[in-house]
Amino acid sequence: MSDLIFLKPIFHEKIWGGRRLQTVFGYDIPDGPIGECWAISAHPHGDCVVSEGEYAGKHLSELWSDHRELFGGLAGDRFPLLIKIIDADGDLSIQVHPDDAYAAEHENGSLGKRECWYVLDCDEGATIIVGQHAKDAEEFRSMVEAGRWSDLLNELPIHKGDFFQIDPGTIHAIKGGTLILESQQSSDVTYRVYDYDRVQADGTKRPLHVEQSVECTNYAAKAPVSGKVTAPEVDGVTELESCSNYTVDRVRVSGERTLPAPEYFLDVSVIDGEGTACGHPVRKGSHFVVPAGLETALAGDMCLITSRV
Ligand code: ZN
Repeated sequence: MSDLIFLKPIFHEKIWGGRRLQTVFGYDIPDGPIGECWAISAHPHGDCVVSEGEYAGKHLSELWSDHRELFGGLAGDRFPLLIKIIDADGDLSIQVHPDDAYAAEHENGSLGKRECWYVLDCDEGATIIVGQHAKDAEEFRSMVEAGRWSDLLNELPIHKGDFFQIDPGTIHAIKGGTLILESQQSSDVTYRVYDYDRVQADGTKRPLHVEQSVECTNYAAKAPVSGKVTAPEVDGVTELESCSNYTVDRVRVSGERTLPAPEYFLDVSVIDGEGTACGHPVRKGSHFVVPAGLETALAGDMCLITSRV
């Protein structure tokens, strides 16, 4: 009898991190500036362990390799998605991610990184950087060298509930005062263009990757003007994005509702409220994987973000 798969989150200290993963989500986090909670991940830089049930103690990567039936027999050499909560107390570096082809060639067979952001909360007046204004590599390089950041970067105001799709080749940065749920390809390849000349606790600066950034940036992509969600909400469900890597939905639960059984798997994150999922108590900050073929019986008052391939 298959059941939901609950995982223990993994926390990563970051120069720009804060404490809201504890104060807002109630996670038991290590000391220091904690920037990322890897909630559903089989990536080697943070491979979550199952917290309860038949598979307790096993890594998600082991379930992927030894129990592919849980994922509907989906092909592939790694679990394809990674779900994070990001607490940006300070600004993240200005960065870009490669696509699959570039990453496979230059990053040891890694996947590229397409990601998307759901703004869980942000300070009044918070902004974000998505996209850039240089028309080609030459102009981009000269603006970077001259430090013309405000001319180069497309900076937008953000609000709770905004959503952004970040395709490979999109220059971007999450800025301080922002809590985000990120759904992404299972990859950890980041090329930094600029890190505000920040110095880490050990006195060193984090490396920059300007050449790779120049090569990977998509100069033809149009920068967005807003993160406002315009897709309709139908019976409590809003499709935030559907692309070749993932489909991400926001699902509101008020009373009882049943999520249809996924063909492969479904990642679920509770971002607000509390209730039950297949009889398990869940609350804001709970994350689980629904295996192939299992309907998810939900009850309570909750808002969820789900993702599937
Ligand atoms: Zn990124």
